[in-house]
Amino acid sequence: MIQLKGIAAAGGISIGPAYKLGAEEFTVFKEPITWEDIPLQIQLFEEALIKTRREIIELQKRISLDMGQEEAQIFDAHLLVLEDRMLIEEVISRLKKEQLNVAYIFSEVLKKYISVFLKIEDEYLKERTADINDVGKRILRNLLGKEKKGLGEIKEKAVIVAHDLSPSETVAMHTKNVAAFVTDIGGKTSHTAIMAKSLEIPAVVGLETVTSKVNPGDLIIVDGTSGVVIIDPDEATLSSYRQKLESLKGFTEKFLSVKDLDSVTTDGRQVLINANIEFPDEVPSVKLHGSQGIGLYRTEFFYMNRRDSPTEEEHYQAYKYVAEEMNPHPVIIRTLDIGGDKFLSQFRIPHEMQPFLGWRAIRFCLARPDIFKLQLRAILRASVHGNLKLMYPMISGVEELKQANALLEEAKEELRKKGQVFNDKIKVGVMIEVPSAAMTADILAKEANFFSIGTNDLIQYSLAVDRANEKVAYLYEPAHPAVLRLIRTVIDAAHQAGIKVGMCGEMAGDPSLALILLGLGLDEFSMPPQVIPELKYIIRAVSYKDSQNFADEIMKLSTGTEVEEYAQEKVAKILK
Ligand code: PEP
Ligand code: MG
Repeated sequence: MIQLKGIAAAGGISIGPAYKLGAEEFTVFKEPITWEDIPLQIQLFEEALIKTRREIIELQKRISLDMGQEEAQIFDAHLLVLEDRMLIEEVISRLKKEQLNVAYIFSEVLKKYISVFLKIEDEYLKERTADINDVGKRILRNLLGKEKKGLGEIKEKAVIVAHDLSPSETVAMHTKNVAAFVTDIGGKTSHTAIMAKSLEIPAVVGLETVTSKVNPGDLIIVDGTSGVVIIDPDEATLSSYRQKLESLKGFTEKFLSVKDLDSVTTDGRQVLINANIEFPDEVPSVKLHGSQGIGLYRTEFFYMNRRDSPTEEEHYQAYKYVAEEMNPHPVIIRTLDIGGDKFLSQFRIPHEMQPFLGWRAIRFCLARPDIFKLQLRAILRASVHGNLKLMYPMISGVEELKQANALLEEAKEELRKKGQVFNDKIKVGVMIEVPSAAMTADILAKEANFFSIGTNDLIQYSLAVDRANEKVAYLYEPAHPAVLRLIRTVIDAAHQAGIKVGMCGEMAGDPSLALILLGLGLDEFSMPPQVIPELKYIIRAVSYKDSQNFADEIMKLSTGTEVEEYAQEKVAKILK
């Protein structure tokens, strides 16, 4: 039995067999061969090259049809690698000299090529490393006679074990047999962790060495609430976790008993408890958990795991469905937020040194009005089917907000010209997730109908801590006094200007911080649907007056740890 401690990313307990994703895909064993085997090994190599060439040409054709010639041209570089005489000859001559299996020889030659390219000063040539790596992996896969391994292969409810998972890989778990997942790297509010919550899959990230400790098929316990992972548990541990699973059900029932009641304090302050979603098909879960609306609909997941971009009609149909299903409750659609840790192959965003500080979210949309306005038109058209609002991510100052609003006006004009109906008075909000926006909230409030504080980013930018990096995760503190002061500034500025302020970062769904946020005057909390009942339970158990006094005391503390401890103590009493 091995016990590991990582970062608790998505709550709940799961027990299941391990399914290692990616890691063993290219494990190449070194096997001696005889002189007589050499012709066959060369033949295998040639066949793999031909198969790879066919695959790439096929891919190139599809991309050219879907996205155009220019995009398809990137594969020319891949084809050139396949024809590289030096590489091919080196493989064949080493094969003859060393008399080892061709897959092993090829993987060694590939490694050498990559390390040589990485050392080259020329940036262009350095970037070719990715091409070589990509084609090299294809050749290896074909040499090993393996098809790309994917989640589709999972037959029973398994625990996914991976070095890392991209948000798009996590999205692919949506309909698969996944009981939980654990990864070597990652942070609490990485989009992979957020996806796990929305899929209701317990997850622990940042375990550093889990992939090297687990063998495929090992039984694993994943406690996504405490961040503990147990590999190959003994009988006593297994039965204690099975009991924990049972008692967890009891707790859930207590919270579920209030899920359809108002989120109102004992002295009558009404707040809104809303849900965050990534997919329209989460709406039933949103309703089931007693949400009063959708406070954040992250639309970028719509663009993932597909080769083309969604059309205006596809956007429209998705938003219309959500608006109608939730009507009369509000639905806040967040416009496309890519970049950072979310990439879309369609748009070919260049590799950046600091993607979270780079061409992301509204910055990308303002530079690509074609993509932005297509989405805005769809949101506007869907706005007649329910209570839709829209908000922009990552606004850093009022100029960006004005530019975005100008494009919104253009999108409206385009619809008017076509005689299409929309709600001209649609409410437009600003996500406050950059410290400069928080500090100028009073200025932004004059141009916005509402605010929504995106603490996942606000924390990473204000504390200078990469939200997806397990090495610095200990510094990622929602309860840090600097974060709380920024939040207070934003809430006060919004109320001064007479607009409402919500929060849609993960912090809004943290039961131990709920009282502080309530006391600071937050109007709306938006969170993964499953935590809604617990948050409602807490809000209904306290008075606004008490929470204000509590927030006043909290604001006098000097560290995040002090705040966290004091807040946990207080909430534990309520939940007892
Ligand atoms: C946030 O930053 O808090 C937020 C809600 O947006 P995202 O997590 O999608 O970056
Ligand atoms: Mg954000």
